[in-house]
Order: sequence, then C-alpha cells, then structure tokens
Amino acid sequence: MSELRYCPKCGKNTYLKVKINWIIFILLLIFTIVLGLVYLLYCVLAKPKVCEQCKTRANAMEPPRFNAQ
Ligand SMILES: [Zn+2]
Repeated sequence: MSELRYCPKCGKNTYLKVKINWIIFILLLIFTIVLGLVYLLYCVLAKPKVCEQCKTRANAMEPPRFNAQ
C-alpha cells in the first residue's frame, strides 16, 4: 500500500504513508464497529498521504529518483 516518492525535504526517496490515528480508531471501534471501519476506510481513501519520515505532503513530493548522487 506504500508508494515510493522523492522527498525534497529528506533529500531521498521515501515511502508515502497515510497517517491513521489509532487511538480514535480504537475508540470508535469500541463505540461501534461500523464507525471504526468507516474511519479506517476514510483514512485509507481520503486522508492525504505524507512522507513517512518528515510528514511532507505527497503533493510537495516528486517522482522517485533512481540515479546515484
Ligand atoms: Zn521527507
């Protein structure tokens, strides 16, 4: 589920990750299983992806670079 991108801030290729708030997810899951699943679906489908290291938004990132420095 992760995508490789070049992050200008990190200066290297990194993977994109969706930030999921697991505390909210677990609370919703306790409240209603359906709500928890809806939240998880929302995170996967609608939340912006970010650099897994510096949290830069995906739209600020470039296609991955494979050439050596
Ligand atoms: Zn980064």
